[in-house]
Amino acid sequence: MTQSAAAPAVDAHYDLIIIGAGSGNSIPTPDFDDKSIAIVESGRFGGTCMNVGCIPTKMYVYAADTAYGTRTADKLGIQAHVDSIDWDSLVDRVFHQRIDKIAEGGEAYRRGDETPNITVYDQHASFVGPKTIRTGQGKEATTISGEQIIIATGSRPLIPEVYANSGVTYRTNEDIMRLERQPRSLIIVGGGFIAMEFAHVFDGLGTKVTIINRSEELLRFLDKDLSSRFNEQAKERFEVITGANGTALREGGEGVELELDNGQTITAEEILIATGRVPNGDQMNLDSAGIEMREDGRIAVDDYGRTTAEGVWALGDVSSPYMLKHVANAETKAVRHNILHPDDMRPMPHDLVPSAIFTHPQIATVGLTEDAAREQGYDVTVKVQDYGDVAYGWAMEDHTGICKLIADKATGQLLGAHYYGPQASTLIQQMITVMAFGLDVREVATKQYWIHPALPELTENALLGLDFS
Ligand SMILES: Cc1cc2nc3c(=O)[nH]c(=O)nc-3n(C[C@H](O)[C@H](O)[C@H](O)COP(=O)(O)OP(=O)(O)OC[C@H]3O[C@@H](n4cnc5c(N)ncnc54)[C@H](O)[C@@H]3O)c2cc1C
Repeated sequence: MTQSAAAPAVDAHYDLIIIGAGSGNSIPTPDFDDKSIAIVESGRFGGTCMNVGCIPTKMYVYAADTAYGTRTADKLGIQAHVDSIDWDSLVDRVFHQRIDKIAEGGEAYRRGDETPNITVYDQHASFVGPKTIRTGQGKEATTISGEQIIIATGSRPLIPEVYANSGVTYRTNEDIMRLERQPRSLIIVGGGFIAMEFAHVFDGLGTKVTIINRSEELLRFLDKDLSSRFNEQAKERFEVITGANGTALREGGEGVELELDNGQTITAEEILIATGRVPNGDQMNLDSAGIEMREDGRIAVDDYGRTTAEGVWALGDVSSPYMLKHVANAETKAVRHNILHPDDMRPMPHDLVPSAIFTHPQIATVGLTEDAAREQGYDVTVKVQDYGDVAYGWAMEDHTGICKLIADKATGQLLGAHYYGPQASTLIQQMITVMAFGLDVREVATKQYWIHPALPELTENALLGLDFS
């Protein structure tokens, strides 16, 4: 590792510097009231989740669910149609009336009288030496140092060169939700959870969606029973082109023209790139502070969130193996505790991390897929339970939803739970509890009541279907 030769002149010294006010902004609880703190945030308080990620996407998803549910209600004997989508009012409600106010309020609070020990800097931060950073540029630059520093700078969209160098306007999660008008047609490049959530949002609201994906399968990390269903349904709903890469992006046609390596040319009003995320550590001159990165671009941290530089911590997307907000939150709590209690540190909680995809239908998953459980040598019992075979799923006329449970025959422990269908992100929570508390699934179905005829009967039946004979 390289270190800068002479220590840079420092304008201010703090007990704690927090770089990034997404999850990082939750670090200063009243326990820190006696410490001088600098928060450096080059964008908006609230970070990705609040401004351009989890929260606004789900506000759009809910609108799309409603529109899509209305358009497909004839299976229930309801003849309904969506007259029009008022895009302006959607954008206004989500951003101008809600999210922007929260972001501005969050920053004002940290700058205000209620947190007098906190100073806010609003420019990009880069390291210039051990425990020393510079924010801003030229005459505006300020150099500050900290006894301890927390790097919580998140991640950004990965843009393949063919799009980055095209000179053509492409969209990412950072601007697609604030377009001036709803596009009539949209190309989505990518096959992961962000791409599939936006596909549901825009198709649900009436935009023609074409998905371009490099591999043959969308959501290919899922258990095969779920990914195969999703891929089948996606092809019925969207134009899906798999096994193809963009080779050139031009202006033309309705707006943009994308040439593919399979010879096709696709045209649409807008194009959204959702091909993955890059941790932001590479933009912070980490070498100068002795902070090492892993080969995959994440900042290297130990189990407790400590980087390779003494007194410097990292959490969230910039260092975590999981780019999920609930994981960033859990890591924030661990790092906060570890700074306050250096003699009683807690590891970052990375066991049994669940996740949900708010596409249509919803998908939620925790633990091992069936293939992974078998590869790890477990003698498994597996049950795939259809939504349509329990009363509420039947009432919903659901013909595609499933709950798949995988358990260890030897111990009765649940190894994985996978839901594909309405309310998947809610239904799975019981199975997260079962796994977190190590409950024996041979008892879980029978030792409690299951409200009839509620949707959790899906889980009850799946549990009863596991074969331990
Ligand atoms: C479209 C989308 C949808 C998502 N949906 C979900 C979901 O439903 N559920 C879920 O669990 N997760 C979801 N995520 C992931 C989730 O948003 C992230 O895992 C989470 O926000 C990461 O938090 P963080 O604190 O690590 O980083 P961030 O929230 O990104 O915060 C980092 C902050 O650091 C600032 N910053 C960066 N570099 C610097 C610098 N050098 N100097 C100063 N400031 C800097 C940035 O401006 C940013 O505000 C979604 C992500 C996206 C993109």
